[in-house]
Amino acid sequence: MVTQILPIDENSLALAKEIILNGGVVAFPTETVYGLAANAYDGKAVESIFKIKGRPNDNPLIVHLHRDYDISSLVSAQPQYSKLLAEAFLPGPLTMVYKSKKSVSSAVSCGMDTLAVRIPSHSGAQKFLKYVNLPLAAPSANVSKHVSPVSAEHVFDDLNGKIPLILDGGKCSGGIESTVLDCTGNVPCILRSGLVTREMVAAVVGECDEYVMKDGERVRSPGMKYKHYSPRCQTVLFDYNDREKAYALYREKQNKGVRVALLCDSQVARGCDCSCILNLGETEREIACNLYDKLREGETFADIIIAVAPLKQDGIMVGVMNRLRKACG
Ligand code: AMP
Ligand code: MG
Repeated sequence: MVTQILPIDENSLALAKEIILNGGVVAFPTETVYGLAANAYDGKAVESIFKIKGRPNDNPLIVHLHRDYDISSLVSAQPQYSKLLAEAFLPGPLTMVYKSKKSVSSAVSCGMDTLAVRIPSHSGAQKFLKYVNLPLAAPSANVSKHVSPVSAEHVFDDLNGKIPLILDGGKCSGGIESTVLDCTGNVPCILRSGLVTREMVAAVVGECDEYVMKDGERVRSPGMKYKHYSPRCQTVLFDYNDREKAYALYREKQNKGVRVALLCDSQVARGCDCSCILNLGETEREIACNLYDKLREGETFADIIIAVAPLKQDGIMVGVMNRLRKACG
């Protein structure tokens, strides 16, 4: 199969719609990462997403909607707090989990009785969703367990020959996957951290829990079980306070002729004398935005990426650290 990368215009949207209506898949940009979309009503199409990615078949997908789509056709109970959150953060990088009406294929939620729904803010995503006017099930458009894609080129690197079309909407501005928020209980509960933080949710609705996986309990968000986001080279993560150890390891590897790169924010970069730096940038937003891009850059030339955690650990950094820990296994 030839994989086309096309800018988002009338021609590519018409082609994308034709592919989706015929049970195929299309990669598309969002403000978080690129997604791989199929018609959520078409069980075969949804199953093909799992095959193409090599995704475990118990890890459910998020349904993506355009901003005017009637969500009440898909989910039953929407608590009052979720309406306030939708007003505050949607369209945007927030996924909300509701009781499902089971109108879409059961393959989307892997047989669970809930449905995760997201309304992305990326203008290209909105154009695509509006043009097709269907709920589109979409996980990140990477091979399972690899680093999520934040550009059309990243998608191509993983899925060339496996999918017909990548809609190119440039580099994603957010950079890490959406916050996943369980809205089935009395209090919203974060299942996966992201750019919409626990503090931001609590500021709108008063309180917000954060799910912690416990031994022996059935996991509430199956994706949490899996190793994720790993580059195709060795990786090791040091706490900010252990950064001298990171530099020592860098020198040791370099002296042995190992190709090594230091992944860190600008503040750490200024304080070290390592020559090969994957610089994540200065601000929290920049660090989130550049994380996957720099991990993917590093794996193309380095045998080992040595990462140093940023000093700041709260807010958006909760999501960044979650990804960094998973990337560094
Ligand atoms: P990805 O699309 O690759 O970013 O993965 C989607 C994430 O959303 C995974 O962590 C899933 O476990 C989670 N997710 C999707 N649907 C549900 C659901 N119905 N309940 C809980 N978590 C979900
Ligand atoms: Mg993913």
